[in-house]
Amino acid sequence: MPVGQNSYLCNSKNERLLKNTDNEIIGAISDLLTQNTAPVVIVPHSNPDGDAIGSAYGLAVVLKNAGHDVKIISPNDYPGFLSWLNGDVEILNYQKMKKTSDYYLRKCGIMFCVDFNDINRTDEMVDAIESFEGKIIMVDHHPYPTDFCHFTVSEPEYSSSAELVYDFVVSLGLDQYLSHEAAEALYTGIMTDTGSFSHNTSRPNLYKVLSALMTYGIDTESIHGRVYHNFSVDRLRLMGYCLHEKMVVLPEYKTGFISLSREELKKYNFVPGDTEGFVNIPLSINQIVFSALFIEKDGYVKASFRSKGNFPANAFSSAHFNGGGHLNAAGGEIKLTLQETLDRFTQLLPEYHHLLNNAD
Ligand code: 5GP
Ligand code: MN
Repeated sequence: MPVGQNSYLCNSKNERLLKNTDNEIIGAISDLLTQNTAPVVIVPHSNPDGDAIGSAYGLAVVLKNAGHDVKIISPNDYPGFLSWLNGDVEILNYQKMKKTSDYYLRKCGIMFCVDFNDINRTDEMVDAIESFEGKIIMVDHHPYPTDFCHFTVSEPEYSSSAELVYDFVVSLGLDQYLSHEAAEALYTGIMTDTGSFSHNTSRPNLYKVLSALMTYGIDTESIHGRVYHNFSVDRLRLMGYCLHEKMVVLPEYKTGFISLSREELKKYNFVPGDTEGFVNIPLSINQIVFSALFIEKDGYVKASFRSKGNFPANAFSSAHFNGGGHLNAAGGEIKLTLQETLDRFTQLLPEYHHLLNNAD
């Protein structure tokens, strides 16, 4: 437990860690955890990625080691390349195990919401969160958090929620409960949310956290292999098809995009996680600063956006695709057919001509 009045937010050198979160909030969360004897639940966003599962799992392992009864409830399934993150803490799939999950939720005193800033990012779990009777704590790095939690730990400067969870745990004085398994999970979150250390990597704190995680003896090459060398043949063939047949490049707007219909996904035996990273592909083309991936779902289209420099992918997504996210990585959804979505997208680009051509 933390010692000293102002120790919560500082590391051993008395350097302040979390900028937006004051000592009172950390103190209140610390008291809550100390006094709480009921189980704890950790919820990542729907269609969780490496950071959502990594940060949830890392936090869960720490809390379990600190003596709490803890489970993760994911709104839906998580991709197979993260399936090795299991063992110490159970991950329930709300969509498939609603009864068991609701039963557990009723017993819980604390809910952590990690890696999302808006209740709507939990899709099928919105009602369960709205009717939750305990205290809700957000731990997240997305800008513009909405007000649905009792305590909001929102730090948009962080590369990933996993990097933030590390400092959050230190701020709470719980770092003695970090373990090899927790460090592996947090490293996974950081690695995946930075695209294997290719973006959001300019803040020195990231390297402090990484070097702290390394002290738990994690094998970073093995983790990289488990996440990135773990795909099916179908996924690679689907990627080839996208590159060869589906990628549209519009040099005038410095934009590239890929779209996939349900039929095309079926043909390549799509499973969740297979299109992970595809949205980044057009950005690797010289001069391209904005890329999009459109995936046809049942009755709507899921959009992912990536950008370089100062082109605001999040503002674009919130203005036209009911979404949001970070400056350079955003997403959203739209209730149109796939063709209507593509038409809408290409018709919008002239409006952004100036911004796109001055992004770098
Ligand atoms: P991805 O393209 O990997 O699904 O999402 C990239 C980022 O965009 C996420 O980290 C999240 O910040 C944001 N994002 C993705 N989908 C949505 C969405 O439907 N709504 C909002 N508000 N943000 C999203
Ligand atoms: Mn994240």
